[in-house]
Amino acid sequence: MNVDVAIPRTKLDFFTYHTSGDVHVGDLVFVPLRNTLKYGVVININSQRDVCGMKDIEQVVEQQFLPLHSLELYKWIAEYYLSNLGEVLRLALPSKILKKYEITEIPRESRRVVKTPSPTYPQSQAIKRILDALKKECFETFLLYGITGSGKTEVYLRCVDEVIKNGGHTLVLVPEISMTPLLYQRFQERFKNDVVTIHSSLSEKERRNIWYAIKQGKYRVVIGPRSTIFIPMPGLQLIIVDEEHDQSYKEHERMPRYNARDVAVMRGKFENCTVVLGSATPQLESYHNAGIGKYHLLTLRERIDAKPLPKIEIIDLRRERKKFISPKLETKIVEALKNNEQVILFLNRRGFAPSLLCPNCGFTAKCPYCRLLLVYHKKEKKDAASLTCHICGYKSKVLRICPKCSRGTLLYRGAGTQRIEELMNNIIRMSNQKASVVRLDRDSVRKKGQAEKIFKTFEQGDAQIMLGTQLVTKGFDFPEVTLVGIVNADVVLHIPDFRSSERTFQLLTQVAGRSGRGKKPGTVLMQTFHPELYSALFSQLQDFPNFYAQEMKLRRELKFPPFSKLILIRLKGENENTAWSEAQKLFDIFTRIKNLKVFGPNRSFYYRIRKNYRVFILLKTTTKFQRRKLKFLTSYKPKNCILEIDVDPLEVF
Ligand SMILES: [Zn+2]
Ligand SMILES: [Zn+2]
Repeated sequence: MNVDVAIPRTKLDFFTYHTSGDVHVGDLVFVPLRNTLKYGVVININSQRDVCGMKDIEQVVEQQFLPLHSLELYKWIAEYYLSNLGEVLRLALPSKILKKYEITEIPRESRRVVKTPSPTYPQSQAIKRILDALKKECFETFLLYGITGSGKTEVYLRCVDEVIKNGGHTLVLVPEISMTPLLYQRFQERFKNDVVTIHSSLSEKERRNIWYAIKQGKYRVVIGPRSTIFIPMPGLQLIIVDEEHDQSYKEHERMPRYNARDVAVMRGKFENCTVVLGSATPQLESYHNAGIGKYHLLTLRERIDAKPLPKIEIIDLRRERKKFISPKLETKIVEALKNNEQVILFLNRRGFAPSLLCPNCGFTAKCPYCRLLLVYHKKEKKDAASLTCHICGYKSKVLRICPKCSRGTLLYRGAGTQRIEELMNNIIRMSNQKASVVRLDRDSVRKKGQAEKIFKTFEQGDAQIMLGTQLVTKGFDFPEVTLVGIVNADVVLHIPDFRSSERTFQLLTQVAGRSGRGKKPGTVLMQTFHPELYSALFSQLQDFPNFYAQEMKLRRELKFPPFSKLILIRLKGENENTAWSEAQKLFDIFTRIKNLKVFGPNRSFYYRIRKNYRVFILLKTTTKFQRRKLKFLTSYKPKNCILEIDVDPLEVF
């Protein structure tokens, strides 16, 4: 008999082997490939393919290693994201899978009865709808749109509780465990040893052990980031995707560039379970899907205990004479500190100063590879002061005197989180307050466990100000926070893209939602050089349906998603001419395909990263388009270039 075997880390869907043994679909096998032995998964028996000189399967390592529905899901991912099973398996299976794994017996801890808040009326309505679907045991997807502070987590917890009572399993996707300590804590409190989490500080061995334990059904509730969606689980009844709009659900480095939120919905379909997508700022596509009846919409329009939403005020930075923190924001911060309240400050820019300028000749320091402005980082702990390229990571020594004219002393222009931190410490000192600042950005959380430490410090009230980049916009719940300051709304995003206003809306709504979640009402102060731009947007904050209606008008006009599907094709090459000519070749092929709109080739927004020039082609497809017409791309090899394929890209440049 001939069987097809998918082999991880290859660029093909499968290889065909011969066997006379007892082999089934889903078995883990050892097979010879190019003079070595590789492991693979049997995806088809009775293969019709007959290759000359076919080799034999060496050994069946584990029978029924993967269930059929997992294979179906992986095949769908390969096809939809224009990838292949070899690449999907690389992401789906733990590395060094053939090494021994151990599953420690999990002690049965009696579930402490936690006093649970009784749900509000809207919460109980949502819970009821989801429980009804669970009872029916067929595939249904809910979009739980609840404004910040409306108690989505309690809805999740009640549904999970019901699933456990039914003897079923739940999978909970979160953007990142270290960024959602509270959600995780609440699950642990309620479900104890029934819960397992997968987080970045686990070792390879620990991951493998947990993977096998989950596959064997040892845990009732699994909480993890996007890659958790691949793990087979027996008796899966419920999948929850928290903060479904979050960009970290999208794989952005390797093929296939899947979106775990969308894969979750497909998995629900293959395994007949209920899927709940939750957010205060749903992605437009998700809300659209609810509108056309693909998903069911559940709405939580009010904060728990009818707490008011924070008051929002805009500060015109043009009147502030180059001050990074306006007097008004400063006064509010000091006031909050005096009242023993906490403050969150948001600035989406790392480092000390985003540019260095020579006042004499106009020289600016740029990355020699990417030609983008270098950011000044001051000395911090073990890191020496440097000029850093935020795109490629290039670092150079700090310059004081202009290298071009040798006469000017370079000026540090603008502010990043390091500089605001310094300013905050000054403000605290000047106002004679006993307070301290914690900073949350990619530089301060590089070490494992650092983010958790910062949250703890802030949660316990050992710091009064938390300052950071978009990491501070995640769904935290700190009841003592009464003031949120948006230091510069104009640098929320710096990339022009069709999703810019959606992303800006999401970030601002999320960060504003951190204010006034406890007993005291909250305020949000937003500084900007373009107040006219934001006043319209801000009047809609927390009013997603209104924002949605306006944004959809634009999308419809421009035929952007959800009114089309996009596929981004990018070519990267060291030789500029080759990158363009290879892109042109592909462009010519695409234009011959029916029902496919082709745009480009264009320069990427970051045209050069390190040594590579980047050129892209955008494909727009409609329902009539046949995806298999693009299958050729999965084995297409451009000359001296790297090809990237991004289906449903989050960014188009
Ligand atoms: Zn100069
Ligand atoms: Zn660079």
